[in-house]
Amino acid sequence: DGLLPFQHEPYFNYADPAVADAQRAAFRDVRARYVGRTFPLLLDGQPVEGPSTFEVRNPADTREVVWHFQSGTAEQREQAVAGALRAFETWQFSDPLQRASIFLRAAQLLRARRMEFNAVMTLENAKNWAEADGEVAECVDHFEIFARETLKWAQGKAVSPMPTEHVTTVYEPLGVVVVISPWNYPGAIPLGMALGAIAAGNTVVWKPASETPLSSLLLVELLHEAGLPRGVIQFVTGSDDVYGDPLVDHKDVRMIAFTGSKEIGSRIYERAAKVQPGQRWLKRVIAEMGGKGATVVCADADLDAAATGIVQAAFGYAGQKCSACSRVIAEDRVYDALLEKVKALTEQLTVGLPEDNAPVGPVIHAGSAQRILGYLERGQQTARLVTGGARADMGDAQGGYLQPTIFADVPSSDPLFQEEIFGPVLAFTRAADWQDAIRLSNDSEYGLTSSFYSRDPLKIAEARRRMHVGNLYINRKCTGALSGTHAFGGYGMSGTNAKVGGPDYLFWFVQTKTVAQAY
Ligand code: GLU
Repeated sequence: DGLLPFQHEPYFNYADPAVADAQRAAFRDVRARYVGRTFPLLLDGQPVEGPSTFEVRNPADTREVVWHFQSGTAEQREQAVAGALRAFETWQFSDPLQRASIFLRAAQLLRARRMEFNAVMTLENAKNWAEADGEVAECVDHFEIFARETLKWAQGKAVSPMPTEHVTTVYEPLGVVVVISPWNYPGAIPLGMALGAIAAGNTVVWKPASETPLSSLLLVELLHEAGLPRGVIQFVTGSDDVYGDPLVDHKDVRMIAFTGSKEIGSRIYERAAKVQPGQRWLKRVIAEMGGKGATVVCADADLDAAATGIVQAAFGYAGQKCSACSRVIAEDRVYDALLEKVKALTEQLTVGLPEDNAPVGPVIHAGSAQRILGYLERGQQTARLVTGGARADMGDAQGGYLQPTIFADVPSSDPLFQEEIFGPVLAFTRAADWQDAIRLSNDSEYGLTSSFYSRDPLKIAEARRRMHVGNLYINRKCTGALSGTHAFGGYGMSGTNAKVGGPDYLFWFVQTKTVAQAY
């Protein structure tokens, strides 16, 4: 297709003092440029104010208000949908080469500003440097990958020829796609969904999580700078009352692309099924919801490698990933030895400020910390607390700082084993043998990610067949899917399995037209 072979964006090496200094400078620069400012909605690319604004606070110390965003109104919501519908009239026929070149240009622009984007993300969702850097690099990858996917899908598919007809199968866009995204990946997640939509010729109403709107707004502005026509993305912020159900229910919306909790995803799926007066299609929904990642460790596994992978996947970004490892299921023979190793590594993790690149930062807000503390208290009645179990002392800073926590001997019926906690909490469960471990790993309504550690090819083959997840990782951690390589999306109640970053993702954003013309 004429493009250079794709390569993943390399991460910054923060061990290099010059690179670390540059990141610190980016924090100073972002504070000087953005903190205290009020940001608009973007309707048809025009900055628009609402009647009031809301505050975005730094989760590392919630006394700090970092920026303000608009509480958009119902009227502005209607303008956004109408604008996206209007833009669709022309964007649906836009040249795929134009779309691809906009994405490639955006990749270039973002490469030059990665440290700035990292700093913004850290200030609004408390990722440490490495986590923020991983996500912003993923955004660059998304631009590159979606440029290639645009060109691939524009070609349609070959069908069996006929002597009497000329027949083509082509993909056409759907219409207005509402993108609703979570705070834990405020860049890569909405960007993946929005690029899926616009790569295929749809237009977008982009509603970011209220905790993390600036990471999103900067990406929308970057796309405008790269040449995206102004109406193709309508950027809105505001309360769920105004921008949740009413957008999902809207008769002019053709599709909803959602990532977030199982509760909200299921609600959207159900509401979208209802055909509204004047609606002339069945809405499409893709929903990526939660996870309850398991790491299965066989007796023959490299226990040190397993322990390292477990600790990274369980406590990276304080466990606030749907891909996180939240269960370890180990064969009886190595259970105690593995637990010792994981405990030792976990106790080396320091809890601290994300802006100082601490390994473990706070959870997103006080309510979240309170909910997680409930699991920590109840867990002490039903399982054995190995380490952690309480708030972490952070002196003056006001934030949801929790100790990385491990519970052992957790029965599979326990909420610690079954429920998505979305915090730094890891459950250890003993399995009689490796087949029992695989069976236990599947004892979950979720099916997003899991890891399997063994050196035995026969066991690995069995795990490949039996483990019921959308993303299975063998002898490596279960977080850190790369766009273009590890198509991401789960089974079961983890969602619709749309597999962002994969070769079939765009199929979710198109309808297929067959045209047969008699010779
Ligand atoms: N794609 C991310 C990963 O593989 C996780 C995304 C999420 O937590 O929503 O770690």
